[in-house]
Amino acid sequence: MLKFLNQVGEYAKESFQAAKYIGQGLSVTFDHMRRRPITVQYPYEKLIPSERFRGRIHFEFDKCISCEVCVRVCPINLPVVDWEFNKDSKKKQLKHYSIDFGVCIFCGNCVEYCPTNCLSMTEEYELAAYERHELNFDNVALGRLPYKVTDDPMVTPMREFAYLPKGAIDPHEVSYTDRRAGLRPEEIIEK
Ligand code: SF4
Ligand code: SF4
Repeated sequence: MLKFLNQVGEYAKESFQAAKYIGQGLSVTFDHMRRRPITVQYPYEKLIPSERFRGRIHFEFDKCISCEVCVRVCPINLPVVDWEFNKDSKKKQLKHYSIDFGVCIFCGNCVEYCPTNCLSMTEEYELAAYERHELNFDNVALGRLPYKVTDDPMVTPMREFAYLPKGAIDPHEVSYTDRRAGLRPEEIIEK
């Protein structure tokens, strides 16, 4: 009899624990049901990068004076500045310039210290390639105009946190009827 009562007690204890774990799991589900959806339907929707976003570097060949400051300030001496001395003008003449984005850490030092401002960080972040060597951009690839999320007619640009009301950072307890802080691009155009 005592053995039977023990088995019933164990069974009840395990049932209670199972119910507790199910409750814990469902609490996460119910918690998410109270939030606004924040999923960005990439690649049809894309977030607009912030103004100081450090994406692919843009390079202006004609402005470069081959001083190699960018190489010296780079933590991994990454930019390759290929120049030769022009005896007639007695100046360095730039032949090729390249940066390997497979190695670059996007710290922005080269951009910060370039004396002629021929380097700039863009908002381009889609740099995936099938071959790592494709990430070694020469001066032609670096000179390409940056890709902009807002210029792509196939994409709906979205602002970060724009889906939340002004001042709200946490999506919990935000009602669906509260007005979002940011305007959608079509609303901006309309305005
Ligand atoms: S961003 Fe940083 S790591 Fe990349 S090339 Fe410039 S200095 Fe070097
Ligand atoms: S610091 Fe600027 S000007 Fe000097 S070599 Fe680098 S890119 Fe050219």
